[in-house]
Amino acid sequence: MNDQTQQWLAWDRRHCWHPFTDQRDWCDPDFEPLMLVRGEGVWLWDSEGRRYFDGNSSIWTNIHGHAHPVLNAAAHAQLTEVAHTSYLGFANPRASELAARLCGFFPSDTLTRVFFSDDGSTAVECAVKMALQYRMQTGASERTRLVAFDNAYHGDTMGAASLGGVSLFFERFRKFGMPVSFVRDLVELRALDAREIAAVIIEPLIQGVNQMRLWPAGMLRELREWCDATGVHLILDEVMTGFGRTGTMFACEREGVVPDFLCLAKGLTGGYLPLAATITTETIYRAFEGPENVFYYGHSYTANPLGCAVALASLHVFAAEKVIERLSHSADFFARILHEAFPRHQVRVCGMIAGIELRRADGSAFPAEEKTGVRVCLAAREFGLLTRPIRDTIVLMPPLCATDEELVFAVEALKKATIKHRL
Ligand SMILES: *Cc1c(COP(=O)(O)O)cnc(C)c1O
Repeated sequence: MNDQTQQWLAWDRRHCWHPFTDQRDWCDPDFEPLMLVRGEGVWLWDSEGRRYFDGNSSIWTNIHGHAHPVLNAAAHAQLTEVAHTSYLGFANPRASELAARLCGFFPSDTLTRVFFSDDGSTAVECAVKMALQYRMQTGASERTRLVAFDNAYHGDTMGAASLGGVSLFFERFRKFGMPVSFVRDLVELRALDAREIAAVIIEPLIQGVNQMRLWPAGMLRELREWCDATGVHLILDEVMTGFGRTGTMFACEREGVVPDFLCLAKGLTGGYLPLAATITTETIYRAFEGPENVFYYGHSYTANPLGCAVALASLHVFAAEKVIERLSHSADFFARILHEAFPRHQVRVCGMIAGIELRRADGSAFPAEEKTGVRVCLAAREFGLLTRPIRDTIVLMPPLCATDEELVFAVEALKKATIKHRL
């Protein structure tokens, strides 16, 4: 290991604290954290000069690849103007255009208002606060209940965490958060008293953190119909599924659904900068007019011009490179090579999102304490692939720009890692 890497690692072990990480494992002398220093396209390089395929798009954010010339140029151009200005009391051109373009993806009388924030958790936080405050201001103050689905993940701030159904992460904070009813499916949802419910939130088509589990086809459409019939607002958390991941620009398009609140983050800036958007309808927006109805919410970096400039460039690349059109081929190809490579394991695919749930030869799950998923991902590094497991489900979520050859590289690297562990 070179001196520079050693110095960085020493500082890290001495002063840093990583997310979702047992720092004891992280600081174990036998574990070698990678210092990532450079990226280009689907590739990342560490401080020792080793190259890796970015197999989870840098925690589900990257879309067009690293150091994309168009996104880089947009960031540079914006920096020569201004990096950040306040959105509280002022507007900025990039945010204006970005809001218009985001609304342009939806029929003109549906989602029309964009509220910017910083990340997926705050996008969800905004939607929830808007949904609750809307009821107070429209004579429906009995609608105080929020509903979420079992095993859901909506972020880690207290409000978003209250909606989380993954007990390992959220259980210990349950008593501090908002009251939320959890349901497993539409049957359980229909059994609730809808008159008390302000909104229901769901990750459409696929629950990411729940090991990439897919909802049954048509479920989202049925949920929208139930919301229409009962007057409950539908919040779609497209933080993971947005921006082409599932094969269409937004997952909700696949079932012809438009929500009352749409939460976007991860892919919004192509994976460059933290920026999020909560998009809602004109009806909801109107209920916040007037001095007693103000939405008292915002962050220092709301509508950061640099993030908005790169987000606009990302949308430009979607059109210029015909990304969505190309995806229909890539997604089919990706699914095919995954099923061929892992016939024994459970492969779940939705567009360019894949979860490969590792199973024993008899189809049963591995004991959790064997940490099979973690060990396979560590082995994959040796074959040039970076990704993370969710328990024993290996996530492969490549940047959308990945070519067929690059996808083959990633799948083969994972295959070699499973063979190394005789799976
Ligand atoms: C990642 C994620 C979030 C949280 O986003 P952050 O940017 O990490 O706060 C919320 N919902 C879903 C579905 C996510 O995948």
